[in-house]
Amino acid sequence: MTLIDRHKKAAEILPVVSSVIGGERYTVGSVGTFDHINPATAQAQASIPLSGTDSVDAAVAAARAAAPGWRNTPGPRRREILEKLAALLIENGSELATISTLENGATMGFGANRFVTMASDWTRYYAGWADKLDGLVVDTARDEAFVYTIPEPFGVVGIIITWNAPLLSLAMKIPPALAAGNTIVLKPAEFTPFTSIRFLELAKEAGLPDGVLNLVIGGPETGAAISAHPGINKISFTGGPATATKIMQSAANNLVPVLFELGGKGANLVFDDANLAEAIPYSATFSLVNTGQGCALPTRLLVQRGVYDEVVEGVTAVVSQYITGDPLELTTFAGPLVNDAALQRVSGIIEKAKSEKAGRLVLGGGRPGGELADGFFVDTTIFADVDPQSSLAQNEVFGPVLSIIPFDTEEQAVEIANSTAYGLTNYVQTADMRRARRLARDLHSGTVGINGTGNMHVGAPFGGVGISGFGREGGREGVMEFVSTKTVLIG
Ligand code: NAD
Repeated sequence: MTLIDRHKKAAEILPVVSSVIGGERYTVGSVGTFDHINPATAQAQASIPLSGTDSVDAAVAAARAAAPGWRNTPGPRRREILEKLAALLIENGSELATISTLENGATMGFGANRFVTMASDWTRYYAGWADKLDGLVVDTARDEAFVYTIPEPFGVVGIIITWNAPLLSLAMKIPPALAAGNTIVLKPAEFTPFTSIRFLELAKEAGLPDGVLNLVIGGPETGAAISAHPGINKISFTGGPATATKIMQSAANNLVPVLFELGGKGANLVFDDANLAEAIPYSATFSLVNTGQGCALPTRLLVQRGVYDEVVEGVTAVVSQYITGDPLELTTFAGPLVNDAALQRVSGIIEKAKSEKAGRLVLGGGRPGGELADGFFVDTTIFADVDPQSSLAQNEVFGPVLSIIPFDTEEQAVEIANSTAYGLTNYVQTADMRRARRLARDLHSGTVGINGTGNMHVGAPFGGVGISGFGREGGREGVMEFVSTKTVLIG
């Protein structure tokens, strides 16, 4: 079977997309349709109805109508629904992973299946908070009044997400918002509508009442209508910094609080004393996984001079073994980029880096041919000796491009690592734990991963500093983002 035939066959499972407002499905959009293009084949695979401002108004009204019922639903019942949803995500995991592969090109072997497990973990974790959110008795005021606090939901939360890991983004935001008793208006990226509709269907199957979670399928204008809506009480956004600025400006008109998970340009510092047998495969794989379309990936590899050549050679050798190809195949490491715009953008960045001599091209730099020629594929690409101040090293590529930069001293490594405007994640590979602790403090980011770790843990906060955003997802802080604390004084 050809690539096109394999994807056409797989696409038979794609759900029909519609906005869902108060439990009603709207298969006809008020602002036209959008042809969804399969990123691996560049063939249209579905027509997506796009909804506009009128649908946002209706979704906010539905969420407001459902709010009293949901906030008064006992915590144990909210927990039960979310636990059931976590189980359903696993039960439907192979379908959800395939959907993700078809909608954004995430590879089954290195992305889509993993996102299902993570989404279920996040949902189960926040299920557990639904019956544990409680207040404080403030005993210091005992002669004046009996003072205590109550955790309350904000009301209606607007959730706007991007396309690179939609299932995980949904699970990082929706379960904590629901656990805290909020109702939701959700807008996914128009490029990844299928995952959201299945998430909604599974939430309904788990027992979530109609109107508690409303889905509006649309583009930037629809997102803008949510962020400007006076009926929204809190906004949680994952996407780019430029969009975040616009959202913050319109949210400011209604004094609505925002949580922003934005981009990143993580540095991975490999020191002379690191265990290279682990650091090399880790650095190679982790920087380029999900075809480099990850905000928290260590896309700048900073290597100390004593092991520089060995690491450049080793990382290049590991990446050369990785297959770029059909994302449905379990052995494929890198799939296509999400859409043609991403392909043009990433190809442009690679060409500019070559012509400006931002670094020495040691792998890739072009596009694969054969049956991949029509899809949105680029070669997995490595530049060594990259100028840390070049545009390649300073700006997010969001594609399979790794920049390797040499350094001499720890101070220099910290200076280079902290030289971008981003601050989401950084990583350190060293045998010296005193140095590791120093760097955990000195690196400017919301997360620091030391010696071969991932970039998030469900029970711990995740988020950025600088233009990587503010607010935290994960752990207690993640649920408290959706809680408004009320103080009661009894005389
Ligand atoms: P984007 O900001 O263009 O779009 C994200 C979402 O915002 C989409 O749903 C889009 O329709 C909507 N949107 C666009 N304009 C809007 C407006 N004016 N008002 C309201 N909503 C609007 O993001 P992108 O470029 O598609 O996504 C890539 C970015 O997301 C990268 O910077 C990446 O690093 C970041 N990201 C961050 C995280 C994280 O957790 N920190 C995770 C994944 C992706």
